[in-house]
Amino acid sequence: MTMDTAIQYLPGVGPKRAQLLESELGISTVGNLVHLYPFRYIDRSSIVPIAQVHPDLAQVQVKATVQKVRLFAKNGAELPPEKLKYNAVSRMSVTVADQSGEMEIVFFKGIKWMHARLVPGNTFIFFGKPTVFKSWLKMVHPEVDAPDSSTSGMLTGVYTSTEKLKNAGITGRVMLKLIGTALEEILPVVRETLPDYILKEKGLVPLTYALRQIHFPVDQNALAKASYRLKFEELFLLQLSLLKQKYIRSKSAVGLQMPLVGEAFNACYNALPYQLTNAQKRVIREIREDLKSGHQMNRLLQGDVGSGKTMVAVLSALMAVGNGYQACIMAPTEVLAQQHFANVSKYLRPTGVQVRLLTGSTGVAARREIHAGLEDGSIGILIGTHALIEDNVQFKALGLAIVDEQHRFGVEQRARLWNKGYQGIPPHVLVMTATPIPRTLAMTLYGDLDVSVIDEMPPGRKPITTMCVGENKRHAMHNFIRDEIAKGRQAFIVYPLIFESEKMDYKNLELGYEEIVRAFPLPQYKVAIVHGQQSTQEKDFNMSAFVAGRANILVSTTVIEVGVDVPNASVMVIESAERFGLSQLHQLRGRVGRGAERSYCILMRGTKVSKESQKRLDLLCATENGFELAEEDMKMRGPGDLEGTQQSGLPISLNIASLAKDGLILSDARGYAQHILDLDPTLSDPRNASLAAELRRDPYIIKDYSQIS
Ligand code: ADP
Ligand code: MG
Repeated sequence: MTMDTAIQYLPGVGPKRAQLLESELGISTVGNLVHLYPFRYIDRSSIVPIAQVHPDLAQVQVKATVQKVRLFAKNGAELPPEKLKYNAVSRMSVTVADQSGEMEIVFFKGIKWMHARLVPGNTFIFFGKPTVFKSWLKMVHPEVDAPDSSTSGMLTGVYTSTEKLKNAGITGRVMLKLIGTALEEILPVVRETLPDYILKEKGLVPLTYALRQIHFPVDQNALAKASYRLKFEELFLLQLSLLKQKYIRSKSAVGLQMPLVGEAFNACYNALPYQLTNAQKRVIREIREDLKSGHQMNRLLQGDVGSGKTMVAVLSALMAVGNGYQACIMAPTEVLAQQHFANVSKYLRPTGVQVRLLTGSTGVAARREIHAGLEDGSIGILIGTHALIEDNVQFKALGLAIVDEQHRFGVEQRARLWNKGYQGIPPHVLVMTATPIPRTLAMTLYGDLDVSVIDEMPPGRKPITTMCVGENKRHAMHNFIRDEIAKGRQAFIVYPLIFESEKMDYKNLELGYEEIVRAFPLPQYKVAIVHGQQSTQEKDFNMSAFVAGRANILVSTTVIEVGVDVPNASVMVIESAERFGLSQLHQLRGRVGRGAERSYCILMRGTKVSKESQKRLDLLCATENGFELAEEDMKMRGPGDLEGTQQSGLPISLNIASLAKDGLILSDARGYAQHILDLDPTLSDPRNASLAAELRRDPYIIKDYSQIS
């Protein structure tokens, strides 16, 4: 029997159970079963004194002596022990005690047998979930063992299960038995996945030991070693595969050589109204090195909202143009593309480089003209939405593709960009994201990319004060906005708009707008409203009224999330804030605090807010650092749930390691993987044969998206 043997051939399984294991848990081979690790362990190594038993404990084990046994009928009447008919008994209540106190053990089933067994004066180990009823400590249907029984004194694994499995008799106990059998079959023949020297250098236990102890730990220490080894292996192989991929590409992927900085760059740079931050300068230098190198750049640029990524994009695009190539900037929404276009056009004025906007709503005539301009090379920079990766958009010499807000693009779309390169050579790629991604996640999601971080805000930003308030503060909130308007500032008021409840949400938005107009009447105040159901002209009209300062308040849906830049706005009110995700709230908050004045973000909380949502809101009040928020968010929700990451998806699903919890192991594993590859980049050293073999296995074959057409 090997890891690949079909599960049905494992003694105790058979075709019926095999089918269930497959459909319920995705287990089709013996190896799958062996790699199904317990998600928690019941600690049966310690005995808790009754006085310390608390209903919050999941499961406890007490050692107690039976004091009194009482039997009750269905109607609650106590039945005399004489002349007992067991079918009349519906409940058995057993009072047990240890030296610290007393508790009640209750049975509704199997009473005859338990009655015979639980004779007063005898001592047992009771294992179960404690509850409290009328301040009386109870345990219903505990496991009952003799005090010297062999099950006590160890950690028992608990496995994922489902109702169907339990109904088919595959209980926790049966699962343990099956896994025990599988280990007996597998352990003698299992191949060690990590070379000996790695086990030694990293102080890891052998695979056979790890597999046995993860399922049947002899103690906490053995379990810790087993779990560390398996987590390390998982993260290490993943990083090894990502880094190897990166290495191969950096060696093989020829990139367009761009030796010059170019005049356009200098013209723009010299006309900048501000100094670049050190972080911006550093990132531009990193990009410049990539463009010079002759290898294709694949770089992720992370920077919090407002950190100045656009300028980096513009200057990078100009470097490409300065070397005779074209550049494109792809944005996820029409609004954002328009904003980029407006900004970039402004910066490009001193350079004479032609920039055009291409989106889904670009008219046929303009489109034709743009296509021609791209093909003859007269357009230097193209800005747009998905429209610019359509097949009929052909560049004369695309040298650099910049993708903003990467997480909304699928990886395959990224690949389509690659194919628009010059003479078959893929363009350099710069992916920008404002959704801070926790380091551990970035290492995995983008493990094959180089990462640059803008970790510094442009100077002069005042901190944003964030507070979370309830309905009773609505009046105070209005007064606060009046004060700010009196100081010459402006305010955003944002309403959630969730697809599933669109109708309701529009209703709320309308009602909210009416309320604001009543509270802020003409002619003293002007309120603008922007939402997705307006025509483009209507939207533009209202938006520009606010941008130009003609309106004091902008009521809107999240269309402004990635949209406008209004330095004079100092208040951001978010209605029903609990309905937004953490990173979305952070993005919205980033719309204020752009000017020199002190800014405020007011989170209006609805009446029904779950504990978890409240925690999110509290977190937002506590920190302004997007990376910190992202880390915390990931800890709270797990990496799979992080906004925006579902689409790009992890390259592999982790079995035991957690990106949220095992960051340290991950960093160590990545560093070590890099070290191994530095010494043996192709893993052809015989010492590394087992690693090379592992990377050829399915889960570690990471798709190379440059190959997808
Ligand atoms: P984001 O990283 O969110 O895309 P932007 O590029 O939109 O940020 O920049 C936010 C604002 O900061 C813009 O108004 C931009 O003009 C300004 N800005 C960018 N870099 C600097 C700088 N070095 N000094 C001052 N202001 C800057
Ligand atoms: Mg931006």
